[in-house]
Amino acid sequence: MLLEKIASLLEEVNQLKAKNAEDVEQLRLKYLSKKGEINGLMADFRNVAGDEKKTIGMKINALKQLATEKINALKEAVASTDSQEDTLDLTRTPAPIALGTRHPLTIVQNEIIAIFQRMGFVMADGPEIDDDKHVFTMLNFAPDHPARDMQDTFFIEQSDPNDVTKNILLRSHTSGDQSHYMETHQPPFRILCPGRVYRNEAISARAHCFFHQVEGLYVDKNVSFADLKQVLLTFAREMFGKNTKIRLRPSYFPFTEPSAEMDITCNICGGTGCGFCKHTGWVEILGCGMVDPNVLEACGIDSSIYSGYAFGMGVERITNLKYRVNDLRLFSENDVRFLKQFTSAR
Ligand SMILES: [Zn+2]
Repeated sequence: MLLEKIASLLEEVNQLKAKNAEDVEQLRLKYLSKKGEINGLMADFRNVAGDEKKTIGMKINALKQLATEKINALKEAVASTDSQEDTLDLTRTPAPIALGTRHPLTIVQNEIIAIFQRMGFVMADGPEIDDDKHVFTMLNFAPDHPARDMQDTFFIEQSDPNDVTKNILLRSHTSGDQSHYMETHQPPFRILCPGRVYRNEAISARAHCFFHQVEGLYVDKNVSFADLKQVLLTFAREMFGKNTKIRLRPSYFPFTEPSAEMDITCNICGGTGCGFCKHTGWVEILGCGMVDPNVLEACGIDSSIYSGYAFGMGVERITNLKYRVNDLRLFSENDVRFLKQFTSAR
């Protein structure tokens, strides 16, 4: 009698089903509670003969365990469907998607590019990992020029110190793009070379081991210093405002002759003098000059027919002037509190 009861309960328990938490609770009450079916077996169990107690006891325990497992499993299954149903509310207003911003350096680089593109410059690209030949030799750097020093340039491979094509380095300026371009094109051309450059500097608020440049090059017949000056004046006025003045100071670069550094009237005080411009009224923004004929010749361009000018500026420098960022490291820390400040600048 008892054995039959156990067998039929076993069969029932095996086929338990529940649609929701309420069903599960009903099943728990029916089978596992104090007054439930399984406990109800105990009344009969008391009358079982002593020698059968052990086997029947084991069967009841097995039944109880199966019922517990089965009901727990149903409880979990029901809970997971319940929670899915809870979160799937198709009418709910979606969480707003946080839009990123352009990086300040990208904003400024794009602006520089746009200004020169309006003056007819086209983009030219070059490798960030380049050789000594394109970054230094073709650009008229003397073999013992300090820029080649390991302290200034990251050399990756120097398999033959006497072969400039076998000295591989991280470019220290984007002028290498110009050698690549001149090597494969004949004038006239007007190109712009933006990109990341690397120098072996200790990282501080004012220096970093990498930064960004935009360099420009124009080679044609009868290109003069006056052309250079006018292009740079136009750039300065478009970038910093129409009242901006420029001045050119004599300087030295291996690849240009004559060479100059260009200052603009301080964009904070307008040229009257302030702490930012050290009370001079001027701030330096770029280097420029007429392309040295040696460079043209090294790149296969006849310097008796063609002349050209070149200029180069640091994107970080222009960005600092435009947005008063006083620590270069902020540009590469990816701190969203800093980057979010440029949301409105496009
Ligand atoms: Zn000033």
